[in-house]
This record gives sequence, C-alpha cells and structure tokens, in this order.
Amino acid sequence: IVTGGNSGIGYETVLELAKKNARVFMASRSEEKAKEAIEKIKKETGKDVEFLCLDLADLKQVKKAAEDFLSLKIPLDILVNNAGIQYVSPIETFPIGQWDDVLAINLSSAFHTTRLALPRMRANHWGRIINIASVHGLVASTNKSAYVAAKHGLVGLTKVTALETATTGVTCNAICPGWVLTPLVQQQVDAKATALNVSIADATKQLLSEKEPSMQFTTPEELGELAVFLCSPAGNNVRGVAWNMDGGWTAQ
Ligand code: NAD
Repeated sequence: IVTGGNSGIGYETVLELAKKNARVFMASRSEEKAKEAIEKIKKETGKDVEFLCLDLADLKQVKKAAEDFLSLKIPLDILVNNAGIQYVSPIETFPIGQWDDVLAINLSSAFHTTRLALPRMRANHWGRIINIASVHGLVASTNKSAYVAAKHGLVGLTKVTALETATTGVTCNAICPGWVLTPLVQQQVDAKATALNVSIADATKQLLSEKEPSMQFTTPEELGELAVFLCSPAGNNVRGVAWNMDGGWTAQ
C-alpha cells in the first residue's frame, strides 16, 4: 500500500514497485485522480495497480479502510506512508485548522496505518514500513511549524517502530528528501515568484540556492528506487534510519 500514490513521489514509488512485480494498492482520497494514475502505469508497465479509497485527514476513516483491507486477507508486505500536505505561515498567524490537518495527514495517519499493519506483518515474519519524511524531519525552516513538527515526529515514530520490530523480519525506515519538484513544491515556487515579482525560473533558482547545494531537485524516480532498495534483501538490516536524499541540504 502506498498512501497518496496518485501524485509526485507516491506515484513514482507505486510505479517502481509495480515494475518489480509487487501487487500495489494506490491509496488516495480521489478515485478519479487515482484511476488516471493507474491507467498511466498500466500503459507504461502493463501492470495492474489497485485503488484503495482513503482520506487521511479523517482518522476514523483510516481505521475503517485498514480494517476493510485486512479483512480481504491479502498479504500486507509493504506500507509506504507517503501522503503529505504543506502549509506555510508564521506561528502567530498559523491557522489552527491547518495545523490540525498537517499533523493528521503527515503524522497521525502514519501511526494509525502502522499500528494496524504491524500485526499482519509480524504474523508473516516479513514487512517493510517506509515513511516519506523530509529534510524537515531533521532540520527546520521558518514558517513551516506544523510540517517540521510533523516530519520530526514521523522520524521519531520511524525509530520507535524500528526498535519494536528489531528482532523480526519487519523493518521501518524514513526517507528524507530535499526539494523535489512535485505539485507540493510547485505551489511554493509559484508563491515565491508572486511575492518577489520574478519569473518562475528565477524563483526556482532562488528556492534551490537557499537550501540545496547541488542546485538540483531530487527526482521522484530516485526516491522510488530508494524505496525499492529498502524493500530488497539488501535492506534486511537497515532499521530506523532517516535517509536523506537532499543534494547536500543537511550536510551544511
Ligand atoms: P504531492 O502533492 O504530489 O503528493 C501528495 C499526495 O498526498 C497526493 O497524492 C495527495 O492526494 C495525497 N494527500 C494529501 N492529502 C491527503 C488526504 N487527506 N488523504 C489522502 N491522501 C492525501 O506531493 P509530494 O511532493 O509527492 O509529497 C509526497 C510526500 O513527500 C509528502 O509526505 C511530502 O511531505 C514529502 N516530501 C516532499 C518533498 C518535495 O520537495 N516535494 C520534500 C520532502 C518531503
């Protein structure tokens, strides 16, 4: 299961796993967007990906969807907690509803999917839980209080899950990307271009130069391949890491 699999990093993770013949469920709150993405994958790989309806802002629905899925008695080997949202504002004016949504979607949903998936994985003596965190799980930036808090929390949850499963075939790790040009970041580029009254190209250059020494975006494909590596036998004893792929952002 890959949450938020219809777009960006989640989409490429679904694609890379499908290429490796995994039976993948794309969890998304929008059936229409998921269906479009599933069709694209079918065209590219010939593989069938399935749809799982899941709105991660509604934590009661996460429990219900997970229970429905588990009742299908399909093995659950790999869980990628990828869905996420961003909201940018100083703390004093940060809307409370946005704080609650960022924490629910970026952090609490991963707690719920993990707690519900673990018994099945333990019973099977094998499992991979991959949390798509962020460099913002390791370092902070201004105006991103909810996101930074949620991603630091997700890295913490990853470590606890890894310790509680350390003697089993289940591993849990976090992937921490720097800038990746997906809709989530395009919004921030567009906002910068408007705020500074510069072109999109100049806003992009400025965004990268502030944080990412490589001056390059990490690609969703690179991140999907890292997820595949963590699922491979070579990843058996990789446990509780927060693996950054960030063009040198956190090396500074
Ligand atoms: P994206 O906007 O392309 O994808 C986000 C996905 O989350 C979408 O599929 C969206 O439908 C889903 N989602 C959002 N709210 C949801 C909800 N309530 N219920 C179910 N699904 C929901 O963004 P992306 O950049 O691919 O982000 C994927 C993950 O990577 C996020 O957790 C994000 O924080 C993280 N990340 C992104 C970057 C980046 O630069 N793009 C960097 C570091 C970490």
